[in-house]
Amino acid sequence: MPAGAGARPGRAARPRGPRAGGRTACRRCGAAAEWHPTLRGRWLLLEPGERPVSAVPPGRRWRIAGDGTAVGLGRAFPSGTCRVSHVDGCDAPPVSLPGAVAG
Ligand SMILES: [Zn+2]
Repeated sequence: MPAGAGARPGRAARPRGPRAGGRTACRRCGAAAEWHPTLRGRWLLLEPGERPVSAVPPGRRWRIAGDGTAVGLGRAFPSGTCRVSHVDGCDAPPVSLPGAVAG
């Protein structure tokens, strides 16, 4: 099941829009963040800079591959540092849902 009709296999299709490692600012809180593609072809906002692995809960640890792809580490506990998704640390309040009451 090809993701995009007309895309040639063998040569990575360059998605339009964000660029791996491209700096941006979160639209919700304005904090600096970086775009990285994931193995599933989605784009993820990562916090800039590395975090000690021990400070990041399992399942929220990411590594950046040599080509800029964000690779989820799952429950692995590598030594050293990892990256975290900005979504997990975004200071902005969650998008308001219908029926939600803001305190
Ligand atoms: Zn944010």
